[in-house]
Amino acid sequence: MKKHMINILACPIDKNNPLEIYEIKTEQDVIINGALFCSKCLRFYLIIDEIPIMLPDELRNKTNEIKFLEQWKEELPRKIVNEGEPWNLK
Ligand SMILES: [Zn+2]
Repeated sequence: MKKHMINILACPIDKNNPLEIYEIKTEQDVIINGALFCSKCLRFYLIIDEIPIMLPDELRNKTNEIKFLEQWKEELPRKIVNEGEPWNLK
């Protein structure tokens, strides 16, 4: 996603905006991999292959998301890796 899209993205659960942004891999102004974080409900939303995955809990793929967190736990903040909702590595 383009970095400036953060201005228009809101949490699908509570419509909170803006979300916090954590970049893992960025090329120019495009975030390839990273995560968004909602400080209101503490949910994170992954950015995978440039696409922010912003779905309600029941449509999220827990297996894939946990795998992603494992892979990038050193580059993402603790509040996502160990304390993020709807699941985390703790
Ligand atoms: Zn939220």
